[in-house]
Amino acid sequence: MRKKYDKIIIGSGLGGLLCGVILSRRGDKVLVLEKNNQIGGSLQSFNRKGCTFSTGMHYMGSLDEGQTLNKIFKYFNLFDGIEYHRLDETGFDIFNIDGIEYKFPIGYQNFINQMIEYFPHEKDAIENYVSEIKNTINTQNIYHLKSTENASDAADKYLRINAWDHISSITKNPRLRQVLSALNFVYAGVKEKSPFYIHALINNHFISSSYRIVGSSDQIAHKLADEIIRRGGEVLTKKEVVNLVINNNCITSVETKDNQSFEAEHVISDLHPSTTMNLIGEGLIKKSFRNRMNNKENTLSAFAVHINLKKDSFKYINANYNYYKRNDVWYASYYDEKLWPEHYFLHCGIPKNGSQYSSCIGLLTHMKFEEVAQWKDLPINKRGADYMDFKNKKAQKLIDLVCKSFPELKDSIVDYNVSTPLTYNDYLGSPNGSMYGTLRNCNNPVGSYISPRTKINNLLFTGQNLNLHGMLGVSLSAILTCGEFVGTDNLLKEINADD
Ligand SMILES: Cc1cc2nc3c(=O)[nH]c(=O)nc-3n(C[C@H](O)[C@H](O)[C@H](O)COP(=O)(O)OP(=O)(O)OC[C@H]3O[C@@H](n4cnc5c(N)ncnc54)[C@H](O)[C@@H]3O)c2cc1C
Repeated sequence: MRKKYDKIIIGSGLGGLLCGVILSRRGDKVLVLEKNNQIGGSLQSFNRKGCTFSTGMHYMGSLDEGQTLNKIFKYFNLFDGIEYHRLDETGFDIFNIDGIEYKFPIGYQNFINQMIEYFPHEKDAIENYVSEIKNTINTQNIYHLKSTENASDAADKYLRINAWDHISSITKNPRLRQVLSALNFVYAGVKEKSPFYIHALINNHFISSSYRIVGSSDQIAHKLADEIIRRGGEVLTKKEVVNLVINNNCITSVETKDNQSFEAEHVISDLHPSTTMNLIGEGLIKKSFRNRMNNKENTLSAFAVHINLKKDSFKYINANYNYYKRNDVWYASYYDEKLWPEHYFLHCGIPKNGSQYSSCIGLLTHMKFEEVAQWKDLPINKRGADYMDFKNKKAQKLIDLVCKSFPELKDSIVDYNVSTPLTYNDYLGSPNGSMYGTLRNCNNPVGSYISPRTKINNLLFTGQNLNLHGMLGVSLSAILTCGEFVGTDNLLKEINADD
């Protein structure tokens, strides 16, 4: 007998929604189950005192004509009704490293020229570095939306190369090494572990072109959900999946906290693999597989302050401003709560009505889950005065650091709202509030790899933990997951044909 749904997707993050669109376009009846009141996962936004804050999607790259995300966005109709704002050509990211500012311009030739201007004696090293980025990217067929059937032999080699070691082998200049590594916060880089291919994918993505979403990031979630619904699917919120009923190694039903039960031919989990394992009873999945999923190392969590500003008080910066107190940009590797904060990432809301001033800004940096773990078992919004006090003291410390470079901020703040690792844990379900899910480790590439297929016949994974996090990585993961049903190359042909 045919099940009511063809596919159940657990989690309405970017990965779940992209899979929902791909599969419902194929005629599948799709059901998306989301535990929160809002859809979108990291694409969620919230309104506060006239400002809309995006929580986990501040900028994205390769959106210029012919570039990878541009093709993917056209395929998913994400240019339709959603506006994107190009960041500063001369510096989409500004890095203040130990008191000196460096800019990353858009476009490789601009990037090379700018780096040579900063480091005139390092021309060969800079050109060599850019060639290495391109060589690495060229081994990743999926990144170019090319057939994955004949994967390059060199791809495996790059998984094992450490980003910092490789950059250090390209130049002996200690400052240039730091500048070339400076974008690592956007992949929560760990000096001893992060592979060069992740560094290359991310740097290439943003250097190719960089954009902000005009308005909030949840527009993307709603656009995707609307298409699923229009094609006969359902997207249900406040439906926390608590149990996967398994018989003969197949999921026969999916149970939610409100005692509902849903059936489908296949189930796709957009959750972290260890969060997915929590939904499967003892003895129902191979123990070795469960242990492998549960023991994945995860990226560090985050602390964010979303600030409402007085009118005309803080000038819009058409770039992200990244601050590193030390002459070492690998903050996750030397994070020390006693010295916190030694880093921040500042992003501005795009002004409305032609104003030069932002009405809101966001500050983001790392924080360890252990610092908030004592409140984890208390209900949301009822964690007591000491948790509020912790949040306010930490927010004030971060704001004080920012005020050293932007003194005008001190008197510009009307209100602020704080997210801690507990917030990310609560709202995304990522273990210990991990920012980008699993950490890729060049010392153990096989151990940090996750396939879309699982040991349960009709359960698949998708999302940031599979391939790469972020707008680009999660889109590629969705292609790989749905490729298991429709053929990855067929899907890639469609995406390329759409261009
Ligand atoms: C602070 C921050 C800033 C970021 N900035 C950027 C950026 O500027 N650019 C960029 O490209 N990327 C950025 N990212 C990364 C990017 O947002 C994510 O990689 C991506 O959105 C993850 O999508 P996902 O589908 O894998 O999972 P998620 O967005 O984590 O979605 C998972 C969903 O599953 C739901 N869920 C969990 N458990 C259950 C359950 N039991 N039942 C039902 N539903 C459940 C969750 O509520 C959530 O909605 C940022 C991330 C963070 C945290």
